[in-house]
Amino acid sequence: MTDSISSQLEQVRQRLAAAERAAGRPAGSAALLAVSKTFPADALRSAWSAGQRAFGENYVQELQQKCAELADLGIEWHFIGPLQSNKTRIVAECAHWMHSIDRLKIAERLSAQRPETLPPLQVCVQVNVSGEESKSGCAPEEALALARAVAALPRLNLRGLMCIPEPTADQAQLAGQFAALRRLWQQLRDEGMALDTLSMGMSSDLELAVAEGATLVRVGSAIFGTRDYH
Ligand SMILES: *Cc1c(COP(=O)(O)O)cnc(C)c1O
Repeated sequence: MTDSISSQLEQVRQRLAAAERAAGRPAGSAALLAVSKTFPADALRSAWSAGQRAFGENYVQELQQKCAELADLGIEWHFIGPLQSNKTRIVAECAHWMHSIDRLKIAERLSAQRPETLPPLQVCVQVNVSGEESKSGCAPEEALALARAVAALPRLNLRGLMCIPEPTADQAQLAGQFAALRRLWQQLRDEGMALDTLSMGMSSDLELAVAEGATLVRVGSAIFGTRDYH
């Protein structure tokens, strides 16, 4: 497993570097988050040995378990899944980043529960760029107000926006969703918010996301293999 994870990780790094070059962007301007949901702690150790430092998890219980089990490594933990308000404490205590803030109540709880001994939680507001009703994320027209309110919370540091586009084989439609997030992000920056993070792009579409300005791509299956549950 270690061998295949390190070689798959290397392939993803090369894809990312090629995408940066193709977009005329500096090397390293798009960071790689390794999405390790459903994979065992050993898989994360393999990726860590191959130099990966930032890992993303979707499920609170799994984040909590892996944080404890891998405490010796000093991983940078990113929570990227939907979060219920009764589970915010675990994220406030374990994570360095939280990408999926979609309502103020969650942000307020995270800020209140962030331990004083830790630096502020780095956060992104998740936006539903596809308009699908089933999708999480705030509506684009709510993003500015939510971002302002989140930025005012004392124990959170608002870094940017995140999206999960509607899956489609239509590249132009996908690019349009990424571009919509980037425009919104630019609008918030024009309003004076110091945002540096555009969290978009996954295994199948990271090139397109980098072309549209992603500063962080969230890649799971291309590194760890196909997930057989969740
Ligand atoms: C699972 C997941 C990813 C990674 O998806 P892959 O297609 O496996 O690369 C990225 N972002 C979020 C929010 C996810 O839930």
